[in-house]
Parts: sequence; C-alpha cells; structure tokens
Amino acid sequence: MELTVYFFFNLSLLIVLLFSGVLLAEKSKRFWSYQPIFIIYLIISLILCFLFTYQLEGINVVFDLRKVPFVIGSLYMGLGPFLAAFIMLVRGFLGIDYGFWMTVLYYGGLAILFWRISPWFLKCSPKQRILFSVGVTFLFSFAQTFSFGIWHLPQSSSTVWFVFLVIQPIGVGIISYIIEEIIMTIQLRQRTMKTKRLEAVERMGAAISHEIRNPLTTAIGFVQLLQNDAISKENHTQYLSIIKNELKSAERVIQDYLNFSNPEIKSMEPLLLQEELEQVVQMLQPLAKQNSVKTVSIYSMGEKIIGDKQKFHQCFVNIMKNAIEAMPKGGILTVETESTETTVSILVKDTGSGMTLEQVTRLGEPYYSTKGNKGTGLGIMVVYSIVRAMNGTIHVESSIGKGTTFEFKFPSLSSTLLEAVETKEAEKELVMS
Ligand code: ADP
Ligand code: MG
Repeated sequence: MELTVYFFFNLSLLIVLLFSGVLLAEKSKRFWSYQPIFIIYLIISLILCFLFTYQLEGINVVFDLRKVPFVIGSLYMGLGPFLAAFIMLVRGFLGIDYGFWMTVLYYGGLAILFWRISPWFLKCSPKQRILFSVGVTFLFSFAQTFSFGIWHLPQSSSTVWFVFLVIQPIGVGIISYIIEEIIMTIQLRQRTMKTKRLEAVERMGAAISHEIRNPLTTAIGFVQLLQNDAISKENHTQYLSIIKNELKSAERVIQDYLNFSNPEIKSMEPLLLQEELEQVVQMLQPLAKQNSVKTVSIYSMGEKIIGDKQKFHQCFVNIMKNAIEAMPKGGILTVETESTETTVSILVKDTGSGMTLEQVTRLGEPYYSTKGNKGTGLGIMVVYSIVRAMNGTIHVESSIGKGTTFEFKFPSLSSTLLEAVETKEAEKELVMS
C-alpha cells in the first residue's frame, strides 16, 4: 500500500509539472515554442522519477516511473534514442548490475522501435494515440515483470504488480490525454485565428467595394444625364460638381484604406509637437469656420517626439476632423500638450455630440461610422495603426452631449534616444564579448 501511494505521489508530480510547462509555454509564447519546453519537461520528469526510485529487496533491480516520460517523449516527439541514452546514463550511476543491463536491453530496443513508429503514431487519431500509448506501456511493463522475476518475490508482490501493470499505464494514459487536449486547443486556436483573418479580409473587400460602388453609381447616373444635349448650362455645371464630389468620395475611401494597410513608418525624425499640431489646426480652419467651431491651443514648451511627419499629420487630421464634425452647431476644439520625463501627451477635446460606451469600444473597428454616406469608418482605424507604429497609446473619454477627449501618449524624444543609446551599447558589449 505504502508503495502504491509513493508512486501515485510521483505520478501527480509529473502531472503538476506538465501543467506548469503548459502555463510557461502559454505565457512566453513569443520567446518559446512548445517544443523546447516539452523537452525540458521530459528531462525534469525523468530526473524526478529517478529521485523516486525504489529498491526491491532480494534482487538487483530498482524500479520507478521513468517509463512514463520515456514512452510519451518517444512516441510524441520521436526522442526515443535521446531519452534512452539519458536513462542509461543515470541508471549507470546507480550501479552497473543486472537491472542496468536490462535497462540497456529494454530501453535501447524500444527507443529504436518507437523512433521508427513515431511518424506513424503521430498520424493516428487522438483516441488511437492514447490507446496505443497505454497498450504499449502495459506490454512493456508486463515483459519487465517477468524478466525481473518479480512474480516469484516473496514480499508484497501484488503491490509491485499493481505499480507495474496499473500505475504506469494509467500514468501514460493521463499524460497523453492531457497532451491531446493541449494539441486540440492549439489547433482550434490556430483555426479560429485563420478564420478571423479571412473574415476580416472578406468584410474589408465587401465594404470597400460597397463604399466605392455607391459614389461611382451616382457619378455614372449623372454622366448619363450629361449626355443628354437638352440640359441647361446651369444643370450642366451642377451635375459636373456632383460627379466631382462623388469621385472624390471614392478616392477618399481608397486613400483611407491605403493608409490603413500601409501604416509602416518610413522616415523617423524629431517632431516639434507645437509646430506640427499647429499646422494641422491651421489646415482645418476652413472646416472649423464652416461649423462655427473655435479652436484653442495650449502647448507646453518645446516637446519633441520621434515619428513620421506625414503620418503624424494624417493621424491628427483624422482626429480633429472627427471632433469638428461632432460639433455641427459650433463648439470648442482644444488641443493641449503635457509632458513627463519619459512621455508626452496630446489631448484633443471637443464639446460635441459625444459617444456612448458601446460606441467608444467600437472605435477603430473597420467601417464603423455613424455618418452614413459622409463617413468611411476608416479614419480612426488609420489613427490606431499609426499610433501603434509610433509606440504610442490612445485613451478615449466621452460622454453623450458633453463631448469627447482623445488622449495620446508617446515616448518623449529624450527617452527614445536614451533607449536607442542603451540598445546600441548592449549590442556593442555583445559584439565585444
Ligand atoms: P468616419 O469619420 O468616416 O465616420 P472614423 O473612423 O473617423 O470614421 O470615425 C468613426 C466613428 O467614430 C464616427 O462615425 C463617429 O461616430 C465616432 N467618432 C469619432 N470621433 C468622434 C468624436 N470626437 N465625437 C463623437 N464621435 C466620434
Ligand atoms: Mg472620420
């Protein structure tokens, strides 16, 4: 009984270790793949099994659960020869006796066999794989009990049989079941990601063609009207102006899309916030006047960030345009900058219509627009991709009827430079060592 508890404890440690490995692999997905973590798991498991070795009285055989990680690693990863060599080495340290030579015989033979059948094994269904692992462990254990002469040992032979023929196959069964579940989860996640990506492309395609087709259809209609000789000069000019506006709107959709799909920052240069933001504010003055919007700028002195001038302008044109458009009956647009040692903040506030929490969370979604034909729903999406490319963050606060504040945070020029210098120095040290 005591022996059974001893090995069940060892088995539960192997399972806890497996879960810890999975957690680690999930956490550090970017740096590690599952494979190296799994190899480390197998080695630590083997060491753990050797720590729980049990010496049978009367024969020169030590026994433990080393078979469990061996079968799993050999079948699932084709690591049989490597694991067998490791087991032989450690077993050699425990003594070159009868048990050692049996280990060499069994593990050596099985390592080659498992190594050959591992590709076939991996092609089987998950259920077949679990059954096969359990079956093969059972047979392996069965053969060992006979060759070790365990069946004619006087002491607690039924417990020893139980450990060999039940605990070991069950252990392999539980671990391979967990591994199958992990494989299934990873595959499901990959499939979902792929479907999501395809969906996004499809939605994008459908929406783009829809957005472009609308103005084009209108333009074609008016071109047909123009072909009629009988129309007056006044109508002629009016139709031409409509056609021009419609074509401009189609062009805007394409431009917004291109800006989104190509947010790559090409030329990085120090940007003086005050200067750049003021240029954007001046550029939007005609639109602000049209909506009776007053602009107020509050700049703290001399803040600089690193970025692409054109993209930076594009980003704040989109934001301020939205702000002005949210105040059709007039209001105040405030552009403010603040700074700390490491970051600079840009606040764009309006006193416009505001948004509900649901609308705020949908910001940045492709084609989300409340402006009907006048909006493309791509502006904020472009803003998000530019800000991300410039290592910035966006925080939005809004309340219906009161207005909206967009807060942008970018690393300040000094902190960016410091980081660049540190990276360079680290690289230099690496080269020197
Ligand atoms: P578009 O302006 O073409 O509609 P955007 O991506 O620029 O597309 O904006 C998406 C939506 O977000 C807008 O339709 C509007 O409903 C909302 N929005 C953006 N900025 C503001 C703002 N400052 N105030 C109120 N609503 C806003
Ligand atoms: Mg917009």
